[in-house]
Amino acid sequence: MPLISKPVSPETLFAQAGGVIDPQTGGIVPPLQPATTFVRDEQNVPVSPEHIYSRDDSDLCRLAEDVLAKAEHAEAGLLFPSGMAAVAAVIRTVPEGGRIIMQSGIYWGVTKWVRGFCGRRNITLTEVDCADAGALESVVGRADILWIETPSNPYLKTTDVAFCTDFARRCGASLIVDSTAATPVLSQPLSHGADIVMHSATKGINGHSDVLAGFLACRDASDPRWDAIREDRHDAGAVLGSFEAWLLIRGMRTMSLRVERMCRNAQEVAEFLSAHSVVSEVLYPGLITDPGHSIAVRQMTGGFGSLLSFRVRGGKAAALAAIGRLELFKRATSLGGVESLVEHRHTIEDTVPDDLLRLSVGIEAVDDLIADLKAALG
Ligand code: PLP
Repeated sequence: MPLISKPVSPETLFAQAGGVIDPQTGGIVPPLQPATTFVRDEQNVPVSPEHIYSRDDSDLCRLAEDVLAKAEHAEAGLLFPSGMAAVAAVIRTVPEGGRIIMQSGIYWGVTKWVRGFCGRRNITLTEVDCADAGALESVVGRADILWIETPSNPYLKTTDVAFCTDFARRCGASLIVDSTAATPVLSQPLSHGADIVMHSATKGINGHSDVLAGFLACRDASDPRWDAIREDRHDAGAVLGSFEAWLLIRGMRTMSLRVERMCRNAQEVAEFLSAHSVVSEVLYPGLITDPGHSIAVRQMTGGFGSLLSFRVRGGKAAALAAIGRLELFKRATSLGGVESLVEHRHTIEDTVPDDLLRLSVGIEAVDDLIADLKAALG
């Protein structure tokens, strides 16, 4: 399906789902074709050469990939059935005996899976704080992949993508950026030199907490690593289903508006929390006091995201008491949905300080959210 041909901004691209009109009906919403298999004619030729078996891919998957790839200034994009499936697809390209340099303190699910994979494959894993240029320099040396996550979850560290691009080149590595917390609206890491950008599309891209999906996009589609990822997704069958792709496209149509509102709300919530006597620290790149603020200003446009964390004076008991009193912020994991969520990460990830609460700020009226926090913190 061809996208809007003239250059348009991402807001327009997303709002019009790439501008695709159903050629059969003129419908302004792409049709959902759930068939897994497609017929051949009397000569045994496929009725439609692009439609044979939907494990290859589907019209809706391709449309969602094309829209997201265009927004990321990518040469190509691929959707997966979850963010973790997309992460695994990249990491599986590293050969036995290879080396991965990975940012420490990122989403725990990624760290855990990559550690296990590297252990099984005799791959050297170097975990380092990539937001700290000096620390990164100390591990310079040949590597296959440099994996960063910016802003990071749950510590909201900002990592300099341009610096990491240069560092990765010196190591002979591909730079992969998990840009989930930034969304394609706020940041396009490929424009700063990254080789592959990754998203858990489960989060802000879909935005309604009702689809699991992962996305990868590449700067150079002729990169052998990209070729390997594409072939493995096809042959191993890790494709996103049509219905999920349809829901994702529907969710993406409002992504720019949602992200704009969520960033504004998160900024106000972060400023409110920073001034609260019960809060010892707020982690959010939108605060001018944040160590990553100036880099975030350089590599993000339109806001600093909907994710933030804060630490409660009084330790674990005080944090758990506050979370228990929240009514509007739902106690649930995940982020990037229209509804606000709160999580005590220590409960499931014991290396996170036990006084830290992570918020995913939604699109509700910010005064209601701040009143909820005020009542909970006392
Ligand atoms: N990357 C980040 C930063 C995440 O927060 C998550 C999930 O929370 C993932 C990757 C994994 O995505 P998924 O849950 O869609 O598999």
